[in-house]
Amino acid sequence: MPNFKIVTRFAPSPTGFLHIGGARTALFSYYFARRHGGAFRLRVEDTDKKRSTAEATQAILDGMDWLGIQHDGDVVYQSQNADHHRAAAQAMIESGHAYKCYLTPEEIAAERQKSHDEGRAFRSSWRDGGISPKDAPFVVRFKVPEGQTIIHDEVMGEVKWSNKDFDDLILLRADGSPVYMLAVVVDDHDMGVTHVIRGDDHLINAGRQKLIYQALGWDIPVFAHVPLIFGPDGKKLSKRHGALSIDAYADMGYIPAGLRNYLTRLGWSHGDMEIFGDSEVTSIFELGDINKAPARLDFDKMAFINGEHMVRSAYHTLLSYAQRFFENKNNGPMNCAQMDRLIAALPHITSRANTLIELADQAFFVTRERPIEITGKAKKSLKPDAEVRLRDLHFILSGVKQDAWLDQNILEHLQAYITKEDIGFGKIGAPLRACLTGGAPSPDLSLVLELLGQEEALGRIEDCLNTYF
Ligand code: GLU
Repeated sequence: MPNFKIVTRFAPSPTGFLHIGGARTALFSYYFARRHGGAFRLRVEDTDKKRSTAEATQAILDGMDWLGIQHDGDVVYQSQNADHHRAAAQAMIESGHAYKCYLTPEEIAAERQKSHDEGRAFRSSWRDGGISPKDAPFVVRFKVPEGQTIIHDEVMGEVKWSNKDFDDLILLRADGSPVYMLAVVVDDHDMGVTHVIRGDDHLINAGRQKLIYQALGWDIPVFAHVPLIFGPDGKKLSKRHGALSIDAYADMGYIPAGLRNYLTRLGWSHGDMEIFGDSEVTSIFELGDINKAPARLDFDKMAFINGEHMVRSAYHTLLSYAQRFFENKNNGPMNCAQMDRLIAALPHITSRANTLIELADQAFFVTRERPIEITGKAKKSLKPDAEVRLRDLHFILSGVKQDAWLDQNILEHLQAYITKEDIGFGKIGAPLRACLTGGAPSPDLSLVLELLGQEEALGRIEDCLNTYF
């Protein structure tokens, strides 16, 4: 990787899926790096061997890919840097900032009780040295210095801790494996990370990590801790709320551009800007515009923003995301004729839907295959007097020239018919709609006719006449 002035990173632990909250901090890190011509790196924090799985790593990579957040350089796997982490711990032992601790589990329990009674954090008696017992197992602990630690967080402002409240935390376990708190500092340093943007559940870690940076004599990155996302009920987002993973949002029919916009806007604002694309955010994104208060998920707003992006999307892009929803509705892949009708209909239908599920519902009438099933409610309009209307309309519509098969022209034919027959539009509207859509949601009839195409539309009327009269 070349040297960049600004380097941000996303550092998920691969224990499940790409969490919606993680995806949002990843987006913030991504836009901030892009804003300043910097690099956005991805580090998989897979040190917890029991909980980290290859599937979970893949789910994160796929989630990032789907959401459209591209990282720079290779993915860094934390587990591959253990030697560096150990070397840093060794350097801190040598400089007197860390020590080997031989406390037994019973001694640790007793010290925990004592520190609790004295209202301070855990300290080991080995912090001041001692004669090490031969061949006894030990952990390496950080020797928390006296005093206080202050960080100037870009979102939270100045945050201060008294060091007596920080444990002499373990850096290396008895088997020599590094813990998160050490690994994250060493990796961020090795990767040249200048700005650590992450959830505010890590705020207290920033204090501890600052002490480790200082002990190692390294530059301390800028911290920006972003408030977590709360559910619509104002409670911390949890499994109870349902949708936690990016996949779940894809399954609900959101498109990446819409979700990027919504997630960015959730907890970040710039004037009254609501709808924006990547290039607009990239040109203005600053950490100072992130809100301090937790953000609440608002599904109505998410759908509204998504709908705006669906309209802005190129049709082939929209179709590639929507295809599986259409296939679901049609119980299988669509043939060429169905696809052609769908492609012709999309420009007219997209503005009627806010999600791909709604789009598939709204466009279902064009993708259906003959003979289409007519719902009970729609069937009610197929009364005996409808037969003659449908036969007349079939005759009239058959006479329309193919190149005149257009919404406005078709409407004129329908209107001329009702004027001639001296009947209201309802007399023809309901039965015609039943034949053409089967009762599925649809736009104005003349547009429905245009979108189906002459052959398909006439075929559907014939099917209906043959089946119901
Ligand atoms: N791996 C940590 C997590 O998934 C994040 C560490 C960090 O961003 O510093 O919560």
